Amino acid sequence: QSQELSEVQIDYHAALQALVEEGTRMVCTGRMHTDRICRFEYLCYSTEAEEFVYFHSNSSVMLPNLGSRRFQPALLDLSSVEDHNTQYFNFVELPAAALKFMPKPVFVPDVALIANRFNPDNLMHVFHDDLLPIYYTMQQFSDLDLEARLFFMEGWNEGVHFDLYKLLSNKQPLLKEELKTLGRLLCFTKSYVGLSKITTWYQYGFVQPQGPKANILVSGNEIRQFTKFMMQKLNISLEESSGEEYIVVFSRTMNRLILNEAELILALAQEFQMKTISVSLEEHSFSDIVRLISNASMLVSMHGAQLVMSLFLPRGATVVELFPYAINPEHYTPYKTLATLPGMDLQYIAWQNTDREDTVTYPDRPWDQGGIAHLDKAEQERIIKSTEVPRHLCCRNPEWLFRAYQDTKVNIPSLIHVIRQTVKSKPGPKKQKWSGSLYPGKVRDAKCQASVQGTSEAKLAVSWQIPWNMRYLKVREVKYEVWIQEQGENTYMPYILSHQNHTFSENIKPFTIYLVWIRCIFNKNLLGPFADVLLCST
Ligand code: UDP
Repeated sequence: QSQELSEVQIDYHAALQALVEEGTRMVCTGRMHTDRICRFEYLCYSTEAEEFVYFHSNSSVMLPNLGSRRFQPALLDLSSVEDHNTQYFNFVELPAAALKFMPKPVFVPDVALIANRFNPDNLMHVFHDDLLPIYYTMQQFSDLDLEARLFFMEGWNEGVHFDLYKLLSNKQPLLKEELKTLGRLLCFTKSYVGLSKITTWYQYGFVQPQGPKANILVSGNEIRQFTKFMMQKLNISLEESSGEEYIVVFSRTMNRLILNEAELILALAQEFQMKTISVSLEEHSFSDIVRLISNASMLVSMHGAQLVMSLFLPRGATVVELFPYAINPEHYTPYKTLATLPGMDLQYIAWQNTDREDTVTYPDRPWDQGGIAHLDKAEQERIIKSTEVPRHLCCRNPEWLFRAYQDTKVNIPSLIHVIRQTVKSKPGPKKQKWSGSLYPGKVRDAKCQASVQGTSEAKLAVSWQIPWNMRYLKVREVKYEVWIQEQGENTYMPYILSHQNHTFSENIKPFTIYLVWIRCIFNKNLLGPFADVLLCST
């Protein structure tokens, strides 16, 4: 048995007996393969077949038991990228009795999280698809603590950012390739399979052009809990700033270059009267970049994966994303979406090069670096003449790659003008108080009293008490929304009121039943729930 796995001792014979007698047990959450995470006891993996194995025995459990729907298309997504057909998880089934004829199982004693990394060489993908989802999947299940072990099954090597994955647990993550060295049949004592998608905010354009996810469920608070954890692991203290404010220009050194970077740095320094420094993934350690960004007032960078580092910016900072010629900033918004998540409290500014003179193209490079020489002449000409890349699907659109890998001479006055439209005085982290928004509860003790005047006029006096949680809150503005609906009608009369009672007389008829709906609103846009409907007869 390998050294790697022997840190936690288990009783081999007891484990083998449990596997043979009880088989595999699986209980999952989620209704669809796209939102499912499964917890297993005694899930096994054949390193020869490269398949997971579920052993049936007297006590085995399989929930959900999908029958052949398990293959339509899969039990679950192994990466956080939704429904990607290269990222599916399934297992093959065997009777536990078959173990007699199989290689001796090697047991994995650590609690395991089994998942796929999506694109471990691209920093945006590393954070968005892997690190945040792994971190919050581990938060979801209490036995996935720092002693848990990560297993990456996508089949890649470590990749350039492996050190970041190592921060998530105290144990070395294992790659698919390494499992072979552990044994022919691995059995995970306890494991979780799949990743939570709850923190992802972007879809990359596999089935429709790329854009923000339809239903974003993460806010800046959870993002910052994660970055705080990462910074602790990197030994970077949060408030070590000398107090001096500065701007960071995050540059790329291989492609998609800023051609007049020195000029840009000088111009920013002069305009905002701040020190301006340049960093790149090639020339700085990851920790140094995080340390610098986490205290910066502004981050300026070409569109590209390095911009995901705005995760680490302090509240109140500004993100300036530069787009090469013919690339519409509205069509590529992973970093805009991140910066504008509720509670991220970042200012986002996009600048686009609109001047053909200021772009340098590379038609003769290989296709994956944006070359177009392999296309037929007419198509090459069309692309070169085009002033905007039309919306497209991921990932090999040659016109997109051609434009994405241009170098740009940034038009300084135009850039400063765009930044100045948003950043009026000095940019920078505002040491603001926590401004989390809390929602009101239901209004309480709603009552109504009707009075009828003659045969055609009536009044309805409605009163209620403040929501219970309001007593404990400082709220700038409190309003009440009241809807009055005649029973059986589809329409209602809406009112916005400042007090806890009101007498309605407009359009109130005698001898009629009204449904009254009341909710509280904090600070104009924090809508609370409606209280139970109030029935009022005039
Ligand atoms: N990258 C870099 N310097 C460069 C070009 C790329 O550090 O000059 C990094 C980039 O930040 C990303 C990875 O290399 O993490 C892949 O870059 P690519 O251009 O393929 O992707 P994009 O940045 O467009 O997402």
